[in-house]
Amino acid sequence: MPMTLPELPYAKEALAPVISANTLDFHRGKHHNAYVVNGNKLLAGTEFEKMDAEAIMRKTAGDPARAGIFNNVAQAWNHAFYWKCMKPGGGGRPTGLIAARIAESFGGYEKFAEEFKTAGATQFGSGWAWLVLADGKLQVVKTPNADTPLVRGQKPLLTVDVWEHAYYLDYQNRRPDYLAAFVEKLINWDFVNSQLA
Ligand code: MN
Repeated sequence: MPMTLPELPYAKEALAPVISANTLDFHRGKHHNAYVVNGNKLLAGTEFEKMDAEAIMRKTAGDPARAGIFNNVAQAWNHAFYWKCMKPGGGGRPTGLIAARIAESFGGYEKFAEEFKTAGATQFGSGWAWLVLADGKLQVVKTPNADTPLVRGQKPLLTVDVWEHAYYLDYQNRRPDYLAAFVEKLINWDFVNSQLA
């Protein structure tokens, strides 16, 4: 089925000043949209055309002949997931089940926050930092480019986009400042809890 560009789950001005409307306009309207449009072009007429995105990602991951399909479909999926990981007035200490799981897995929220921000800051070049559920445990991982924990048997719970297009208009080269603001002011813990359930 053709991929579609999802609406943001908040107004484009709603995350400012942490992430500006200008960044969200370019990020969703140009970058995310290009993955959707290019992915649909590459999928048309192939065996993958009628599959859902997750099935396509699992079938094409690691196959050099299908790299174009994987990269565009995975980037479309990663971005749709990323928008849902943020909300106006979010961030800070988690609530609900995820709070207990973070305490148990990382030894406290502060340690999780450090590990998550470090994963994002140390992802060389473009990519993503994630909180995932793997073998029943929470883990922080990072992936390059379009790569996603979904194709490694890990369940994504939270992600932050560390491609420069995610932060450059607001933070220029200061990726650590963007990551700190994401963690302290944007994370939608309700969404993370919904993924854990
Ligand atoms: Mn992006």
